[in-house]
Amino acid sequence: MNEAQQNLLQEATRAAELAYAPYSRFRVGAAVLTPGGVFSGANIETASTNLGICAERAALTHARMRGEQKIVGIAVSCPDVRPNEDGVDDEYGAMPCGACRQWLAELAPSAWVVTSTSDKVYLLEDLLPCAFKLHMDNSS
Ligand SMILES: [Zn+2]
Repeated sequence: MNEAQQNLLQEATRAAELAYAPYSRFRVGAAVLTPGGVFSGANIETASTNLGICAERAALTHARMRGEQKIVGIAVSCPDVRPNEDGVDDEYGAMPCGACRQWLAELAPSAWVVTSTSDKVYLLEDLLPCAFKLHMDNSS
């Protein structure tokens, strides 16, 4: 993980402090790097559990609403990840969920992904090979 990626991860960790997660108590922050700056988001839950939004999608929406369409990278921080039953930190505890991976496939296909639970730098092709794409005939 290079310095820019570490800095983006720090921004994601700050964003996690703004999460609204009274039900899961699993705060998540995300930050996306664009040519125009850094845009962050946090998970927001509701009592109707299916209506919440993940930090990654909140951050991507934040960037889009500021006119940013090129996403260079995204960092995800989960300060509430705990070690697994073997006492080992869960390397995959902060990985984007399937829905967020689909968003990344469409809005940030060439972005790198870093997380607070791993030193690895992931690419979308690692996270979502064979991503769903809707091919529509717009010729008529
Ligand atoms: Zn998600």
